[in-house]
Amino acid sequence: MTEPVYLSLLHSGELAERVRQAYRHLEACDLCARYCRVNRRASVRGAVCRTGERAIVASYGPHHGEEDVLRGWRGSGTIFFAWCNLRCVFCQNHDISQAPAGSEVEPEELATIMLSLQARGCHNINLVSPSHVVAPILAAVLIAAQAGLRLPLVYNTGGYDSLEALALLDGVVDIYMPDMKYSDAMVAQRYSKVRDYPAVNRAAVKEMHRQVGDLVVDAEGIARRGLLVRHLVLPGGLAGTGEVVRFLAEEISPNTYLNLMAQYHPCHRVGLYPELNRPITRAEYQEAVRLALAAGLTRLDVRSW
Ligand code: SF4
Repeated sequence: MTEPVYLSLLHSGELAERVRQAYRHLEACDLCARYCRVNRRASVRGAVCRTGERAIVASYGPHHGEEDVLRGWRGSGTIFFAWCNLRCVFCQNHDISQAPAGSEVEPEELATIMLSLQARGCHNINLVSPSHVVAPILAAVLIAAQAGLRLPLVYNTGGYDSLEALALLDGVVDIYMPDMKYSDAMVAQRYSKVRDYPAVNRAAVKEMHRQVGDLVVDAEGIARRGLLVRHLVLPGGLAGTGEVVRFLAEEISPNTYLNLMAQYHPCHRVGLYPELNRPITRAEYQEAVRLALAAGLTRLDVRSW
């Protein structure tokens, strides 16, 4: 089995240094592209993610609904963190991403959760909405790796990540799985309450790809390392699929693994946004697939409809 990348940083002592650096970043937080610059070690006041120095875990366990390359046959070891740095009006997990849920954990407890998922046979540790909890994640990985964690880490993010956070994660994360939600900043502002999503998101995806490259899958079909992008097709072309797939093909790699997601359904606050208050049509999804193929992308994870 290929070793996870964080082991070499563990052995060199660099992983412990990253933990120290990450907690320093918490004192004027720039750990996501909101750049709140508040001291989260003192208070959550002013932090859009409403999270202090400890992570809040909403749930964890083997997950069999992720991409085949992640779930394999024993499941992806998913850890859902409470709160988020985005405020998507259509969030399917809004009960944990935009409301209090779960329990605050110390890094030692988070490490124990990671090790328990490994003991249950999961193929990877899948960190869901991790951007605002980079510091406790790094602290937990240090503890867990010392105690025998050997699974690849999946950074399952909404894609609004700061380059400061990604620098801390360089050589720690094996698989980056960012969303690319929008191509239009105004659309992102309306539906996720961020001003500059496309520019931030593209810079982040470029840096992720620089660190880990195209997705590498082992002989058993399990992802080991690389970039896996998710794009949720929205009604009325609001996700800007054409520009997303052109960016991936031309500025990342035509071999980018792209999951074109068809499962959009109205929930949470979309009653206030009539244009989003319906599922996508078969024709809309097929147009998204056509655009991805026309852009030259070769590794599409698509739904048969
Ligand atoms: S992680 Fe992002 S949202 Fe949370 S305090 Fe830091 S900059 Fe703000």
